[in-house]
Amino acid sequence: MKHLSILGSTGSIGRNALSIVAMHPDKFNITVLAAARNIILLSKQIKKFKPRMVVVLDEVHAHKLESLLEKNQRPEIMFGTKGYINAASYRNSDIVLLAMVGAAGLMPAIAAIKAGKNIALANKETLVMAGDIIISKAKEKNVTIYPVDSEHSAIFQCLQGNKQKDLKKIFLTASGGPFRKKSISEFKNIQLKHALNHPTWDMGPKITIDSATLMNKALEIIEAVHLFNLNPCSIEVLIHPQSIVHSMVGFKDGSIIAQMGIPDMKNAISYAISFPRRLELELEFPDFTSIKELYFEKPDTSKFPSLEFAFEACKQGGTLPAVMNAANEIAVNNFLKQKINFPDIFKIIRKTMELHKNIHNPELSDIIDADIWARQISQSLI
Ligand code: MG
Repeated sequence: MKHLSILGSTGSIGRNALSIVAMHPDKFNITVLAAARNIILLSKQIKKFKPRMVVVLDEVHAHKLESLLEKNQRPEIMFGTKGYINAASYRNSDIVLLAMVGAAGLMPAIAAIKAGKNIALANKETLVMAGDIIISKAKEKNVTIYPVDSEHSAIFQCLQGNKQKDLKKIFLTASGGPFRKKSISEFKNIQLKHALNHPTWDMGPKITIDSATLMNKALEIIEAVHLFNLNPCSIEVLIHPQSIVHSMVGFKDGSIIAQMGIPDMKNAISYAISFPRRLELELEFPDFTSIKELYFEKPDTSKFPSLEFAFEACKQGGTLPAVMNAANEIAVNNFLKQKINFPDIFKIIRKTMELHKNIHNPELSDIIDADIWARQISQSLI
């Protein structure tokens, strides 16, 4: 029996994780659930999974949640940053699924590592912002970080039984998003509802826009560099619209191992929370004879400069990856509010990165300052 904390329980990853737990009640016990504002769904999750502790965004939401629960159903309810940190380091948990969106995942990740908790990491921004610090702290505390991002789970799965030193190349696949075939002149006419319509994966709004801009892949390049200790030059991004091959690892003897499956997050989540065991998930296999061929193409970086931002951020290091991430969060937020158009997202990220005075070998406080700086600058560009 594993005792599991889920931070971000009402989002797409959190809901999928709870559906896995519901399928395997003999293997998991939910100790903590943390969400932000979706109190109605959270209250249902509490009634079903009976966590010991629950965290929400603020006091108002905490009171609302309390009013939805009978006295005898109420776990300990906390709120805010302190609450999330307590949730991440909760003493009775074996593993923490970190599935909060954006930079908000950073401090809970640090707290979980400090408390010596293994992490199933769905929040890629944490490694993008502070990968060096996170990885070295995790090593120090003997904490394992299991990837939940489907591509990184694929790489992790391909590496099982192999030696890291034999790894030569990573083929990081990307669906290409809904605008792969659009010409750059059409980009300014892209509407929010089209951007929110992802062709293969069902995800939250932020990551869906990130997929449309390929910023999701940009963040994943940096995430992979940290998780697998890679030279960025060894990563090749391949557009693979069918999303059947979730990524591939090339070894020094010329072998390539691919991890495949239908696009369903439950595979990666279950592998992360139950490693090294595989769970029965009742997922279908792809029907290869009806797919007929698997298609791959080079990404067009003149249309989608995000990948160049990522390689530049990797090359420069320091606080630049955190700045790239923060500028993207602000740009996406404003696109979701329909305050800027689609190509503006790239302009804002590029300009903010250009304006940044990079700090090398940053402390955590430098990274947090750079994040705040980048948010202010990118907002002022809108
Ligand atoms: Mg992914």
